[in-house]
Amino acid sequence: MPDPGGAGPAARRPGRELVEVAPGVHVTTAEHWTTTTTVLVARDGGCLVVDPALTVGDLAGLAEALRERRWVVEAGFATHPHWDHVLWATALGDVPRWATPECAAVAARDPDALLRAAADEGAPGHDPGLVGRLAALDGSVLPWSRPAVAVAYAGHAAGSAALLLPDAGVLAVGDVLSDVEVPLLDLASDDPLRDHHAGLDRLEAVAAEHAVEVLVPGHGHVTDAAGLRRRLAADRAYLDRLAARQPVEDPRLADAWVRGEHERQSRWLADR
Ligand SMILES: [Zn+2]
Repeated sequence: MPDPGGAGPAARRPGRELVEVAPGVHVTTAEHWTTTTTVLVARDGGCLVVDPALTVGDLAGLAEALRERRWVVEAGFATHPHWDHVLWATALGDVPRWATPECAAVAARDPDALLRAAADEGAPGHDPGLVGRLAALDGSVLPWSRPAVAVAYAGHAAGSAALLLPDAGVLAVGDVLSDVEVPLLDLASDDPLRDHHAGLDRLEAVAAEHAVEVLVPGHGHVTDAAGLRRRLAADRAYLDRLAARQPVEDPRLADAWVRGEHERQSRWLADR
């Protein structure tokens, strides 16, 4: 009989490791692209899952880790409409998965393309009925038991938003401010460099206003307030070199995939 969780034998794999980075805020990291998933846990054991990723097996392991702790998923949040941030699994429950209205609209436009991208980039087999099925947030505060605020920002992808957890001093930013990826521009925008700078400025202001102590990037490693300042400086330096058409020396370019993306966006800017 098929597993009602829909993930077959993968559903029986051990639960993934969750690291508590602030009170009631846990992060698990998938091997592929060092992709993070953040779990916000309320006092009653209800939880909200941000960007569950990345393979079918990873999601089964995440669901198992939550089950072991007796946490019940009550909601999800997607930071932006790239395939690796809009995944879900039946085992995580039938719950609302919030996103900015623009993010939800973009993800709904072509779920098949998201599925194809997932399969092409190393994560085949995701449930076609669940990929990219997001609910547009009404306002910025998530209708949930613990404070969580969507902070929309420009850059990287249309509809991007960080999730601010003000009672924990945590900002889960999505795909900016990474220690493993240089700024990846939204090349569909009229002015990708301007947008990316504006996004960094917005996140810096929000982090300062709310005394953010823990930064969770969509890919890479969690850092503190000093690390956030270093990443802001590194990302701005990268954008400035790119804008000036100057060679970029950045340790994040040591990764072949990141270098390929860097070369793609350098060519795009040169051709404008
Ligand atoms: Zn992305």
